[in-house]
Amino acid sequence: MSAPSEGIVHLVGAGPGDPRLATVRAIELIGTADVILYDRLVPAALLEHARDDAELLYVGKQPGRSSMSQDEINRLLVEHGEAGRMVVRLKGGDPFVFGRGGEEAIALSEAGVRFAVVPGVTAGVAAPAHAGIPVTHRDEASAVAFVTAHEDPAKDESALDWAALAGFPGTLVFYMGVKALPALAAALVRNGRPAAEPAAIVERGTMPGQRTMTATLGQIAAVAQEAGIRAPAVTIVGPVAALRDRLAWLEQAPLFGRRVAVTRARAQASGLATRLEELGAEVVQVPAIRIEPRTDGIRAAVDELGTGRCDVVCFTSPNGAELLMQELDRQGLDARVLTGTRVAAIGPGTAAVLREWGIRADLVPARSVAESLAAELVAQGVQDQRVLIPRASEARDLLPRELEAAGADVLVTSLYETVRERLDDQQLEQLATAGYVTFTSSSTVRFLIEAIGGVERFPAQARVVSIGPVTSQTARDLGLEVHVEAERHDVDGLVEALLLDARAAAPAP
Ligand code: SAH
Repeated sequence: MSAPSEGIVHLVGAGPGDPRLATVRAIELIGTADVILYDRLVPAALLEHARDDAELLYVGKQPGRSSMSQDEINRLLVEHGEAGRMVVRLKGGDPFVFGRGGEEAIALSEAGVRFAVVPGVTAGVAAPAHAGIPVTHRDEASAVAFVTAHEDPAKDESALDWAALAGFPGTLVFYMGVKALPALAAALVRNGRPAAEPAAIVERGTMPGQRTMTATLGQIAAVAQEAGIRAPAVTIVGPVAALRDRLAWLEQAPLFGRRVAVTRARAQASGLATRLEELGAEVVQVPAIRIEPRTDGIRAAVDELGTGRCDVVCFTSPNGAELLMQELDRQGLDARVLTGTRVAAIGPGTAAVLREWGIRADLVPARSVAESLAAELVAQGVQDQRVLIPRASEARDLLPRELEAAGADVLVTSLYETVRERLDDQQLEQLATAGYVTFTSSSTVRFLIEAIGGVERFPAQARVVSIGPVTSQTARDLGLEVHVEAERHDVDGLVEALLLDARAAAPAP
């Protein structure tokens, strides 16, 4: 083991574009680095794993601006390493595949700075895979060559042995700009590769909006140009390219090509986002709200439970249940404070949070709205019972009112406040092109409309998906048309309703 003050530079592959294709090791290192030097094709979401106080340095090419030279990057790496920092040099794909990682490693080695390499999933394998093209295949390709060349093949005609490449007994995968494609294809054909051989070009492999065109080697350049294919793209030449006809799995996902906006608070969004992504959707996070816990209200609720005289406790949201249970845990208490207390929960999501804390709700009303819970509790009888309602500060008064009217002694405490979250320009831009906008509560509707500056600015083409009647009503009150309303008022119900709508609607563009 080295002394902690010794610097080390990790040359880390960030994977091909989809942040979920970064390695576990890459994410670990990003999370501990003092300094991160990153390139253009590094997925922005990966940088969110960085420490708050980490220094993030962009060293990639900037269109229209002079970019940092390789020498400067090498010098920076050496300097930070020598200064004793934990440095992550984050590069698209794999650092040693056309990433100039080798040059950086040599510079570090010459300077005597300790370094390590973390391989990444390279675009030349990942982009074809996501297009349904295996780069090797038992009957059709027993070898694969990864090739790069200058943007302008005329400039380094000599660097590549086109005759050898044309004769290569296997798949050719080209990492290079689209501009080079016509000359490249022509050179291969000129040197004897059959013009009729299958070929494919994959644009933005593994990223939102991935596109693939297939054609013969003779036609691929024209087809790519016609389709307006742009960088980053890889070109695959070989019989395996034809397997895409049978193996194009990505496009078959039910929500492929759909951009779906998720408006709930970032901390709560991941479950919904993951479900949608698994179905092939491109998820746009536009967290219009943020949950701000209210310590006084949370403590008051825990104190009340601690007295042991509470007959009924009504959890009204997953957030509320989680906050209260966390505070119990923090105080060294557990589910036993609820002994003898009837537990009611609005919505299966709320009940699920309670289950994670070892509590089975006694009552989950048939419909996930306050009206339904009030009616069922009143039917069971709440006369002279002590009822605790720990909830959001902005919740409706219906539940406490109905229970009080039925003779209950009600204590309401505010566990959290839902506050508006600012949206940045990029989020607003993405929202503007969404095919669906999902709303999981009234506050998401209200704050999103505020964030975009009024209902007139709501994207006209977007279909509005609401989790239930209360949310729908808020949307309509604000002038939004609700196209889809979930039958089950939880994340699964919402996803199911959206899926049905997408299946019924015209195919995605
Ligand atoms: N080290 C990287 C490659 C860097 S060279 C890796 O291992 O993937 C940059 C070239 O990689 C681009 O010009 C393009 O040809 C290819 N590339 C990178 N990301 C890509 C992606 N998501 N889809 C298609 N091609 C990609």
